[in-house]
Amino acid sequence: MTPVPAPVRIEPPVPAAIAEAAALLRHGGLVAFPTETVYGLGGDATADRAVAAIFAAKDRPSFNPLIVHVAEAHQAEALVKVDGRARRLMARFWPGPLTLVLPRADHSPVSLLASAGLDTIAVRLPDHAVARALIAAAGRPLAAPSANRSGAVSPTLAAHVAESLGARVAMILDGGPCRVGLESTVLDLSGPVPTLLRPGGIAPEAIEAVLGEELLHPAEDPAAPRSPGMLESHYAPGLPVRLDARSRRDGEALLAFGAAPADAALNLSPAGDLEEAAANLFASLRALDRPDFTAIAVMPIPETGLGLAINDRLRRAAAPRRAA
Ligand code: AMP
Ligand code: MG
Repeated sequence: MTPVPAPVRIEPPVPAAIAEAAALLRHGGLVAFPTETVYGLGGDATADRAVAAIFAAKDRPSFNPLIVHVAEAHQAEALVKVDGRARRLMARFWPGPLTLVLPRADHSPVSLLASAGLDTIAVRLPDHAVARALIAAAGRPLAAPSANRSGAVSPTLAAHVAESLGARVAMILDGGPCRVGLESTVLDLSGPVPTLLRPGGIAPEAIEAVLGEELLHPAEDPAAPRSPGMLESHYAPGLPVRLDARSRRDGEALLAFGAAPADAALNLSPAGDLEEAAANLFASLRALDRPDFTAIAVMPIPETGLGLAINDRLRRAAAPRRAA
């Protein structure tokens, strides 16, 4: 069976198209744009609903934290806590394929869903005029994973994006082929030892030369405290989580979905909308993670669409905790 290609708008990156794309982003829409690494599927990083739409468009079965893209280095300061090491690396490698994982700033506007509930945020300044013009015109940071469905190869041409995402994206800005074609290097600077989470466009030796110290390479060092995929570093509430709850037990906070009992503490989506529920998930878990409750009881979430990712995260939160 040949799939019918979905209609999709591919525009040359002229000022009028960038302005229109920026307006779409400000209204919560998704725009694919070129960077020097690969094409990104961009959404407003400060809007939970836009970030939920990114996960929905990619069919991701889980919520990985996304890279937040800025147009100027100083914009990162409002989002994350930038220390001296980060500042030196930004001065040397930004714009460029280096992503820095830093502690969330106190009043960071970045969606908790974009960081998958973590206290850290990954930031990058892409070395691409179209990407920077778009982020600047949108007037807000953009969360942007690679613009392909989950499990597919990262796109380095606008046509790849169109094939993979079709009309799931409001517009594709066509900047031609991506120069680097490799993902960014991801460096975790949230702890005392700089840690290479993902090798990419910037060599670790070049980073070590700027920092004057060696990086931890968890992927090559089984004794290293961090897991290579770093996807173990998931947010989980301090309280126990009980799944598939139909009603609240004494002391529990009930996190509802759809039609709910009157004593529910919060509702992920009264209308039963999975994108809305995804958008509210991390903020709701945090809001209910309070000492005056004994546990968070979560009503059943359907195992379809974004429900897969929501349930994946809830199951991890409910799993028995390993002793530290
Ligand atoms: P992608 O957006 O597909 O290029 O992937 C982003 C990469 O950055 C993934 O490997 C994420 O796990 C990683 N990442 C993003 N945010 C964080 C974070 N706060 N902590 C650790 N890793 C992160
Ligand atoms: Mg990818």
